[in-house]
Amino acid sequence: MENDMEVRYNSTRSRGISVTASQAILKGLSEDGGLFVPDHIPALDRSLQELAQMDYRGVAYEVMKLFLTDFTEQELRDCIERAYDEKFDTEVIAPLVEAQGAYYLELFHGSTIAFKDMALSILPHLLTTAARKNHIQNEIVILTATSGDTGKAALAGFAGVEGTRIAVFYPKDGVSPIQEKQMVTQKGDNTFVVGIHGNFDDAQTGVKKLFSDREFAGELGEKGFQFSSANSINIGRLVPQVCYYVYAYARLLKEGKIAEGEPMDVVVPTGNFGNILAAYYAKRMGLPIDKLICASNENKVLYDFFRTGVYDRNRKFVLTSSPSMDILISSNLERLIYHIAGDDPERNRELMEALSGQGRYEISADMREGLRDFFGYYASEEETAAEIRRLYENCGYVLDPHTAVASAALQKHWESGTGDAQHKKTVIASTASPFKFTRSVMKAIDEKYDAMEDFELVDELSRIAGVNVPRAIEEIRTAPVVHRRQCEVDEMKAVVREFLGA
Ligand SMILES: *Cc1c(COP(=O)(O)O)cnc(C)c1O
Repeated sequence: MENDMEVRYNSTRSRGISVTASQAILKGLSEDGGLFVPDHIPALDRSLQELAQMDYRGVAYEVMKLFLTDFTEQELRDCIERAYDEKFDTEVIAPLVEAQGAYYLELFHGSTIAFKDMALSILPHLLTTAARKNHIQNEIVILTATSGDTGKAALAGFAGVEGTRIAVFYPKDGVSPIQEKQMVTQKGDNTFVVGIHGNFDDAQTGVKKLFSDREFAGELGEKGFQFSSANSINIGRLVPQVCYYVYAYARLLKEGKIAEGEPMDVVVPTGNFGNILAAYYAKRMGLPIDKLICASNENKVLYDFFRTGVYDRNRKFVLTSSPSMDILISSNLERLIYHIAGDDPERNRELMEALSGQGRYEISADMREGLRDFFGYYASEEETAAEIRRLYENCGYVLDPHTAVASAALQKHWESGTGDAQHKKTVIASTASPFKFTRSVMKAIDEKYDAMEDFELVDELSRIAGVNVPRAIEEIRTAPVVHRRQCEVDEMKAVVREFLGA
């Protein structure tokens, strides 16, 4: 029997594609190159007061059950139990820290100390459950392009998970030394890590090409493999990210920091647009989010887009101290475009074709209306460093550069005097531990630190911030490098064959 509440997943690029949640998770990307989008956004069916009494897992279940409607309660609860456990160094999973008038939602307490863990610790379980539900016999091969943090979080999530293999491509010169070390020391027979000679967009485009190569898929299918994606385009990544916005609100309510129903703003340091899209979905579920503030670094495509309605990737790619946001094509924006076009795949496809053809598109006036709750700001490298210094000097709280971009964006929003922004509760998505970007962080605090070695800096940061060195960093101090493979952008297919022995 058809369930009224069932959410099905359509493609952003053509009509007539409609799959279940578990199928969408398995496929990652739709066959027509589109992304899967829910056919409607479900409304929260628990009151905020009820949610305020729950722990992280409880809230996660209440959100995920509404989107992943073909999973049983038992299946979902099992996935959640296995994901949000002692891998996180705090029972609350995502603590809220009040500093300088804002609430920093720390999403970096998982095994790789960046927010990608929030979704990637559950994705392997959702995926293997989905495979079982759909009677898949093939081994699932995860292909991932990473701008630094996804790679390690995906490796950590999938390492040793039976029935899966994972290959990660990262820009050889585009990630921090600690990010690289985290990846190339990854253990597990089913893992493969490759540095490509190109930037993140090259890696992402290469992976997308492999996904849409039907001949290759057929060839590998005969050998018992099938591709899936752990990138933030997978709805199995997106849905778990909706949960922590609901959780943040529930925590504020529980602690008496916000009144039930009182609006809050959220600020998200943005790259591929997955995290902020999750906040948008949370808002559409009925969570009292007012403004969505999209923070960019000097790769400010999104800032320009929100100001002008023109998305234009034809510009210089800048390497910054917030590498996970060094992105000129924000894949998940396609979902928002589709929604503001009135869930119209034709209109969306036209724009996406313009993007891949001319590298640019312009949305119509009626579509811009759909963006009225979004604000874009960006922070230069100097502004980002100054924000790290400001927080440290004023209250001793140390931000990583990504979070600092968001924090600086919030200052600009407050200064702009838009609405009554200053008087609203604001949650900043704090996406990485400062220990992941120690050199940039310490240099921002004081230039003198640039003379120190990487791990000396780690110990010094621990001392001045009064925070223990996270386990994830301790582990890589001495871990041996086990992945040394590098390749050119056009060799990615051959490299995948090599890994699979196919
Ligand atoms: C991935 C990442 C981002 C960007 O998130 P998107 O969902 O891609 O917009 C921001 N900060 C950090 C630390 C990240 O790892």
